Amino acid sequence: MKAEIVAVGTELLLGQIANTNAQFLSRECAAIGVDIYFQTVVGDNEQRLLESLTLAASRADVVICTGGLGPTQDDLTKDVLAAYVGRQLIIHEPSMNAITQMFQSRGIHMVESNRRQALMLEGSDPLHNETGLAVGVAFTFEGTHFILLPGPPKEMKPMFTNYAVPWLHAVMHDEVPLYSKMLKFAGIGESNLEHQLIDLIQAQSDPTIAPYAKEGEVTIRLTTRAQTAEEGERKLFATEQEIRSRLGQHIYADQDVPIETIVLKMLDERKLSLAVAESCTGGLLSDLITSIPGSSSSFLGGIICYSNALKHKLLGVPMDVLEGEGAPGAVSSETAVILAENLLTTTGSDFGISVTGVAGPGSSEGKPVGLVYIGFAQKNAETQVITLQLSGNRESIKHRSAKSALYHLWK
Ligand code: ATP
Ligand code: MG
Repeated sequence: MKAEIVAVGTELLLGQIANTNAQFLSRECAAIGVDIYFQTVVGDNEQRLLESLTLAASRADVVICTGGLGPTQDDLTKDVLAAYVGRQLIIHEPSMNAITQMFQSRGIHMVESNRRQALMLEGSDPLHNETGLAVGVAFTFEGTHFILLPGPPKEMKPMFTNYAVPWLHAVMHDEVPLYSKMLKFAGIGESNLEHQLIDLIQAQSDPTIAPYAKEGEVTIRLTTRAQTAEEGERKLFATEQEIRSRLGQHIYADQDVPIETIVLKMLDERKLSLAVAESCTGGLLSDLITSIPGSSSSFLGGIICYSNALKHKLLGVPMDVLEGEGAPGAVSSETAVILAENLLTTTGSDFGISVTGVAGPGSSEGKPVGLVYIGFAQKNAETQVITLQLSGNRESIKHRSAKSALYHLWK
């Protein structure tokens, strides 16, 4: 099944927004065995939109459009498609009622153009929009399946997952269902992971293995088709076991959760508390942890000791460790150890994690960009330090440092 994504919006062409819809849709399509052959971006222009859709229909079995379903004059997608396939636009009554009710409940006057959001092509299937007003549309024309979704990701994503995917399965006469499973990895980069699985990835046909990396974590999605759930699970299990035999120590979950969730669960179960001292991550580690609801049951807090002065004042790192001729420096194993140990006494936590490193772009203390020390102190146990030499830009070094700290605590 060949597919094309057509992202509609002049702001995409101007570089004002990134085409994250295409990224999301490509990934989701890969997971259900729909191959994206092309991603197109076109502005809010009738003529060029028609050209893009005609070309897409000529080379794809499925055309997924996002954007241009709103009420304004530059929202043209439905009009252009209706003209292209020669069908009328009609009002989808349930959507019209929802729009009218929304305006009434807020006491705002509804203008005529808002009705446009309830339009669908005659003979098409509506795709329900639970987070917005514009109804989505799905239909088949001359063998090509068209799916029209709104531009805002918070509307587009649930509509695709909850309504467009089942619709696609139905029209693809998909009697053989799909089974998939996620494996989440930490403490390993995407290229290293791929390298270790390259034979499986290249030979893959069933189950398919799709790795992708995001902010210091790598995810693999295994997907297979099978007549029964049992058969599906058996096929997934065999591939999962092979992957585990090679990279098991890096797999922290078999569902789509971030590592911070797993670390907090572990701390909570063992009734242990955590505090962090962050230099190069500048609070990112605390941010990741506190993004998880319920983190307060084990996370006491963090100290952002970015400057040497604060490392000294708040966490007692001696100045002659931090600075001066022959001193280990702020980015050193010695500093990481003292920060982590003094956290235990300062905060009373069971675990103390410190992160100090060179996030770049320039080097610091004559040390290379990406050099990071992470200290782990624990009551009644010897303090440990790990040294990382990370690559990437400032943002990615910060992310990977924070994720590594969590990974090593979990390990
Ligand atoms: P609206 O009712 O908000 O006008 P719409 O379906 O008409 O929705 P657009 O007007 O094309 O969609 O885009 C609305 C907003 O959705 C954009 O300003 C942008 O924030 C977001 N958006 C649109 N297309 C994309 C895309 N391809 N990737 C990420 N975000 C997008
Ligand atoms: Mg719009």
